[in-house]
Amino acid sequence: MRIMNVENRLQLLVDDRIVDVESASGGLFSADTQSVYDRWEEFCRWADGATLPDGQSVPETGIGPPVPRPGQVFAIGLNYKDHAQEAGLELPASPMVFTKFPAAVTGPFATIELPAGSVDFEVELVAVVGRRAHRVAEHDGWSHIAGLTVGQDVSERDLQLQPPAPQQYNLAKSFSGFAPIGPSLVTPDEFDDPDNVELGCLLNGEQMQKAHTGELIFSVPTLVAYLSRVVPLLPGDLIFTGTPSGIGWARTPQRFLRPGDQLLSYVEGIGAMHHRFTPVTH
Ligand code: ZN
Repeated sequence: MRIMNVENRLQLLVDDRIVDVESASGGLFSADTQSVYDRWEEFCRWADGATLPDGQSVPETGIGPPVPRPGQVFAIGLNYKDHAQEAGLELPASPMVFTKFPAAVTGPFATIELPAGSVDFEVELVAVVGRRAHRVAEHDGWSHIAGLTVGQDVSERDLQLQPPAPQQYNLAKSFSGFAPIGPSLVTPDEFDDPDNVELGCLLNGEQMQKAHTGELIFSVPTLVAYLSRVVPLLPGDLIFTGTPSGIGWARTPQRFLRPGDQLLSYVEGIGAMHHRFTPVTH
């Protein structure tokens, strides 16, 4: 199953056409995309058996994040070996966890303002929690995930690396618009292997990152188990699973985002986000 958020209304995506959930369900499910995660299993059962009206074509504008107001946003650093190497850091023995503050979430085709500094791109697979997870075993990890979406862990490196330690990861990765996700959420059963999908990003048409999530040091179910040992994971929470190599900071010369840049970020089987960058206007 695939869902989208169009004009702040939850939509089922059926054969590349959208069906409005509130009207198709006769009001059983609200148009508010965020609230569906609290009733995820019930929603999946309904969607599975429902007789749906004909869909409409996906509009060119108005597509919002498939999780507009997550309660918690977890992010994982150094989760690909080649990225840890390009950062000059040792492979972590356990997941390196930080947060992106939820107000940084934006849509898959938003224009993102560039604050002063060195703003970088990090394409990531994002897992969305669909069932409360507290102290769950790794083999149960996937059963707590509603689906997968594409994310960009946009990062301002000057602030991120500013001393004293611990460095300002959370703040530097949470400027307004720095957590774009979308364009759709796809349930794990839609993938041949949800533990191994291709992801990548292109800057002005040039491929900058490309990898497969089979290369993750800590897989999605491992992260669910690790995080939920400490924090209950709640429906609608996000887990940014980490970025592969190719970030602008590690390039020679370094390449940070500039006004007018176009960034395309994709995950195979989900789709692509397109972002344009502008200077901060106020
Ligand atoms: Zn990241």
